[in-house]
Amino acid sequence: MSLFSAVRETFVGIKSLFTGMRITLGEAVKPNITVQYPHETLKMADRFRGHIKLVLDPETGKSRCTACNLCVRACPSGCIEVEGMKREGEKKKSVTEYNLDFTTCSLCGSCIEACPSDAIEFSKDYNKVSLNRADFDHMDLVKKLEAEAKVWAETHPSTSAAPAEANPVAPTAPEPKPAAEAPKSS
Ligand code: SF4
Ligand code: SF4
Repeated sequence: MSLFSAVRETFVGIKSLFTGMRITLGEAVKPNITVQYPHETLKMADRFRGHIKLVLDPETGKSRCTACNLCVRACPSGCIEVEGMKREGEKKKSVTEYNLDFTTCSLCGSCIEACPSDAIEFSKDYNKVSLNRADFDHMDLVKKLEAEAKVWAETHPSTSAAPAEANPVAPTAPEPKPAAEAPKSS
C-alpha cells in the first residue's frame, strides 16, 4: 500500500467516525418518544377503526339512537341487534339494547353510513383484551355508553343534575327531576 493510499484511508475512516458520532449525538439529545405502555397510550388517528360504539350526544349526555334498525339492515355480517322503546312524552324510540358481535364484524362502516342520526361511530379502542369470549361476540354497547354518560355527567354538573342521566338509555328511567342544588343563575 502506498503512503498516499494509507493517508487517504485514514481520512476516510476519521470522516466516517465523525459522521457516526454526529448522528448518534443528534439522536441522543432528541426528546424521548418511547410510550410507556400500558401506563401511557397513544392517541389514535381520526381514521382509526375500532369496534363501533354508540355516540354520546354532547348536548344531552344521551344516545341519539332511535332504534330504527337501519344499521342492522345495512350490516353485511348480521352482527348487530338493536331493541328500543318509546318513552312517554317522546316522539321517537330510544335504544334499550344494542349488541354487537365483534367476532364477525369486518369494520366495513356500512352501519355508520346507514345511520340517519349519526348515532354510531368507530371507537378508538385498540387494546381490547379479554379471556371471556362474550366480551367480543356479545358487546353491550348500551352498557358502554352508560359508563361514558357517567363520566359526562360528572363533567357537566349543570346539565346533568339528575341522577337518572347517568343511565341515559334505561327503558324505565323516570324523567329526570332538577336536583336540589341546581346551579345558581347569576
Ligand atoms: S362495521 Fe360493517 S360488519 Fe361491522 S357492524 Fe358495522 S356494518 Fe356490520
Ligand atoms: S344506530 Fe342509527 S341506524 Fe342504528 S338503530 Fe340507532 S338510529 Fe337507527
